[in-house]
Amino acid sequence: MICVTITAVLSHRRRRRDLKGMTEHKQTNRVVVIGGGYAGTLAANRLQQNTGIDITLVNPRPQFVQRLRLHQLVAGTGDATADYRTLLGRGVRLVVDTATRIDTVGRKVLLGSGEDLDYDYVIYTVGSTAAVPKQLPGAVEFAYPMAELESAQVLRSALDAAEPDDPVTVVGAGLTGIEMAAELVERGRTVTLVSGGRLAPSFGEPARRSIARWLGRNGVVVRESDSVAEVRRDAVVFADGAVRPSAITIWAGGFGVPDLAARSGLTTDALGRLITDETLTSVDDDRVMAGGDAVAPSGQALRMACYTAGPTAGTAADTVLSRIAGELPEQLQLAYSGSCLGLGRRAAVMQFTRQDDTPVDFHLRGRFPGAFKEMVTRGTLWGLRREARKPGSAVWRKGGERPSQPAPVPGVVM
Ligand SMILES: Cc1cc2nc3c(=O)[nH]c(=O)nc-3n(C[C@H](O)[C@H](O)[C@H](O)COP(=O)(O)OP(=O)(O)OC[C@H]3O[C@@H](n4cnc5c(N)ncnc54)[C@H](O)[C@@H]3O)c2cc1C
Repeated sequence: MICVTITAVLSHRRRRRDLKGMTEHKQTNRVVVIGGGYAGTLAANRLQQNTGIDITLVNPRPQFVQRLRLHQLVAGTGDATADYRTLLGRGVRLVVDTATRIDTVGRKVLLGSGEDLDYDYVIYTVGSTAAVPKQLPGAVEFAYPMAELESAQVLRSALDAAEPDDPVTVVGAGLTGIEMAAELVERGRTVTLVSGGRLAPSFGEPARRSIARWLGRNGVVVRESDSVAEVRRDAVVFADGAVRPSAITIWAGGFGVPDLAARSGLTTDALGRLITDETLTSVDDDRVMAGGDAVAPSGQALRMACYTAGPTAGTAADTVLSRIAGELPEQLQLAYSGSCLGLGRRAAVMQFTRQDDTPVDFHLRGRFPGAFKEMVTRGTLWGLRREARKPGSAVWRKGGERPSQPAPVPGVVM
């Protein structure tokens, strides 16, 4: 995720010096970060560069959820939580609660407990959720989502209670669905993966072929062009009318986002991501910044990924620091270089991309990418801890093409 460049490090050192001097003269600013995932934790830690900021991180759980490992939690091959005490810097206060509304007029974040938090700036990092389609018969009742900690735990219990050879169906063959299917088949489960379109559509053809080969060799039945028309307690009904037994049906058919921004009257895209300008500032309110899965800079959503969470959250935090310092905030710069899909505990397929995240015809597969994937996954926590100790240390590859279009007009819900 993070690629160090000498210029970036130097500019951050300079910024830290400037911010230190500045805090001696300025009053305390209160910043509330909503959502303590990869983006929010990084942003909260980064704000510590200015020791005059009162930083509060609001998150519904007392522990950090490593969503990158939720499929492992489901399959019983790994844990997916980490202790915030090891991830947050001393200057960050954690409030375990849920934000129910951002009152941008009164500058308060209202909480589920009935309390509220006054703010000078908010960083909106509420991440993403599962998106089980309400209109698909039986999906809400019988399919198991897996994109959040609690749903993954429920699914894990259901798998533990099932017979080892009970048929499992994974619906959705994007990266999450494939990783889930691979993890389960490696644990000896009987797995069918239903794509409803193309397998791993964000990858290039050669990489997609490698994935299909691995799945086939390891016993996953891939129904690439089939789609699901109904989910039953013990079966899946396909669009062509075929009914196939499925003791457990897992829903991995894409992500939604929390509706907090829309509920707070802020401009969002159709999915509910907060629309910002290129400094990650809401198009409605220059005291609201955003990062991670729940932001659409200039109305153009980026890949929902840890890779994106760092640069967007880092830029959002830098924007807050700049505004407090009375400086012009910098614009988001972000260059993708690839994406790594885990296939069980040992293998992976690494798809290389252009800076704008489109795939090139080059990929790596096998154990080396597998080891790399594990290193990167561990590295995400390492990066957060480093930012806690050395605020401003996170840097990322810059220079990706960003839209030249200005952000949409405030007040337009797209
Ligand atoms: C199984 C799985 C595997 C994945 N694998 C990869 C991978 O290999 N590589 C990769 O790059 N990405 C992967 N992803 C995607 C990645 O996990 C997300 O893109 C990433 O978590 C986004 O970070 P975030 O901080 O924006 O959101 P999150 O990590 O979702 O954090 C958001 C936080 O905000 C909290 N929150 C939500 N609403 C509120 C509220 N109202 N008040 C307070 N707090 C709130 C949430 O509870 C959560 O703690 C995977 C996702 C899943 C589910």
